Amino acid sequence: MIASLLIRLGTLLVVGDLIYLAVGEGAMGGADNHLFRTILAAGILSVAGGLVLSALQRARSGISGPTCPSCGRRVARGRVYCEDHLVETINRYRDEQSQKKE
Ligand SMILES: [Zn+2]
Repeated sequence: MIASLLIRLGTLLVVGDLIYLAVGEGAMGGADNHLFRTILAAGILSVAGGLVLSALQRARSGISGPTCPSCGRRVARGRVYCEDHLVETINRYRDEQSQKKE
């Protein structure tokens, strides 16, 4: 999953960035503020992107139900054909039935 990978990568960036800030302040006599902010922004963007992606994936899997085999349009749950092709299929079925009687 790209979404979970992005979230993990972003979290790693933010955590690593905070460690860099802590270590930098202590050991290097002041962390590079510009670098810290750049990495922090990248990490937050990655997490945000991952969250948006996973939300989209969840929404898409929630919406996508059965599709009409004739035209590929989405149909309501429990239905096989869309409105147009449902009528068409019923009519065709009726024709076949009446032809058998004759
Ligand atoms: Zn259809």
